[in-house]
This record gives sequence, C-alpha cells and structure tokens, in this order.
Amino acid sequence: MEALYVQCIIRILQKKYTEKGMVDMENPEHTLIATLLSARTTDIQVLNVYPGLRKAFPTLLDLARAKESDIATLISSIGLFRNKARAIKALAQMLLEEFDGKVPNTLEELIRLPGVGRKTASCVLWYGFGIPAMAVDTHVFRIAHRLGWVKGKTVEIVEQELMHMVPKDLWGEVNRIFVQFGRDICRPGKPQCWRCPVARWCGFSSKTPKP
Ligand code: SF4
Repeated sequence: MEALYVQCIIRILQKKYTEKGMVDMENPEHTLIATLLSARTTDIQVLNVYPGLRKAFPTLLDLARAKESDIATLISSIGLFRNKARAIKALAQMLLEEFDGKVPNTLEELIRLPGVGRKTASCVLWYGFGIPAMAVDTHVFRIAHRLGWVKGKTVEIVEQELMHMVPKDLWGEVNRIFVQFGRDICRPGKPQCWRCPVARWCGFSSKTPKP
C-alpha cells in the first residue's frame, strides 16, 4: 500500500470521526488508570466508575495506601475488577517508589508498570503526553488487516508494520479514528462495507454488500 493511499484513508476517517479518544484525559495519570480499567470493558463503564474511584482516592498516595478490596468495590461493575484493583494499587506504589510520583513518558518505563502492556503504554504516550505512539488494540489490529496494510499475526509485528507505513505525526490518530470507525462501520464480525468511506481502497476479500 502506497504511503499516499494510507495518508488519504487516514485523512478521510479523521474528517468523519472527530470525537476525542475516551482515554484522552489531558493528564497522563488519568489516562494511564482509565486505559488500564478499559480492558474488556466499555468506555461508558469506565467513565461511570472512574470519577468515584478518584473521589475516594484522589492522589497516588491514597491509591497506594488503599485496601485492594476497597478499590475493587468501587470498580466492581467492570470486567476483571479484582485484577485491575491489584494492578492500580501496585502501579501507584511503583510510581511513588521508582518514578517520584510521576507517570514516565517512555514506552520502556511504562511497560514496567503493573498491568501495563504496549497498548496501554502507547495510549499514555499519545493521549497523556502527545508523544506519537502506535496503540494497537483490537480495532486497529482488525482494520489494518482488512485494509491490507499489514500481515503480522501479533500485536508487536503489526505495531512495527504500521509505524513503518504511517507518518509519525499520524501514529496516535490511527488508534483514535480506528476505534470509532471499528465501532461504527468496520465492526468485528460483519463490517458494514456499503457505508464505508474508504471501501475503494480496501483489500478485504469478503466485503459485505448492502442488505
Ligand atoms: S470496506 Fe469493509 S472491511 Fe474494508 S475498511 Fe471498509 S468496512 Fe472495513
């Protein structure tokens, strides 16, 4: 796929999908914890629990000292809440002990934090710090394959393929627009290809006809 086509597709989707990302909280700490909470959970569920969690535990010190069970109770409506409560407490402790209470701004440091993988780290870099990063979540992985942009079977390989293909200043946008595009049109299961604004450039072999 030529770089020009890639940029063209991104520009078209940028015009269609203008909402900011759910974890775009203009603060690395909020972005980090909200992204951690968002695994296997809807945005609405995260936004429902996050304000209550931070009202009860406003600072990292509060979270580090909190009982894991108290954190779990506050986030019990979301998936994997016990694991997430454990990770949040441990993460707050590590940030205080090793990072002077500040969220680090490199991928290598971020992925050392409990519960933080490459996708979460990349979300923090882009949404929290404005540092270009390629956050490959389930939507990005699926859509990049359907479009014919990538062939990789793992998130790490797809991340590398996309970073080679997409200009650096658009890396963060790929996550923001593909998440919205993936929920709206290029859905898991059957995509609604007849509504797709980039269908003419898409290499997907099973495009869905208009019902
Ligand atoms: S044509 Fe279909 S599969 Fe291809 S990007 Fe559009 S919605 Fe997704």
